[in-house]
Amino acid sequence: MDPSDEQQSDEIDDVPPDDAPPAPAPPGAHRSERLIARLHESIQARARDLLQLAANEGIALVVTQGLRTFAEQQALYDQGRTKPGVIVTNALPGSSWHNFGLAFDVAELVGDKYHYPSSLAWWAHVGELGKSLGLEWGGDFHTFVDRPHFEYHPGLALHDARAGRLPVA
Ligand SMILES: [Zn+2]
Repeated sequence: MDPSDEQQSDEIDDVPPDDAPPAPAPPGAHRSERLIARLHESIQARARDLLQLAANEGIALVVTQGLRTFAEQQALYDQGRTKPGVIVTNALPGSSWHNFGLAFDVAELVGDKYHYPSSLAWWAHVGELGKSLGLEWGGDFHTFVDRPHFEYHPGLALHDARAGRLPVA
């Protein structure tokens, strides 16, 4: 008899059913997931957790920016230089953590629109939530304060990332 013909017995699932209803998804989760899914795997769970932590406090966050590929960054850089339009960035490909999928930006979701609250205290609190998850917050940057921005690259600098060294998930 060919062992591959053996029928597998039905296994009894003796894990007790979880009676707790699943936690509702944070308000901005659905809209954010398309961008989160394109981030580097080491930062994806942190992005989701930030939305959840905020939602637990009644703060609806939505991810507005995530991965910006080298090609997308180059296209942005070309605008106003070799392509029509006004200059919108001085950053070449590889000079932003967004280019490695290791940064994302958030805003507050209000209804079906997002906006950037003017309250610095609101941002400081969101920043603290992100930092509690091991993220670096752009509100702490000295040269260019960027409050909607979070990034994750423990022990790594951009030149590491350009050399292919990325965080272990
Ligand atoms: Zn950013």
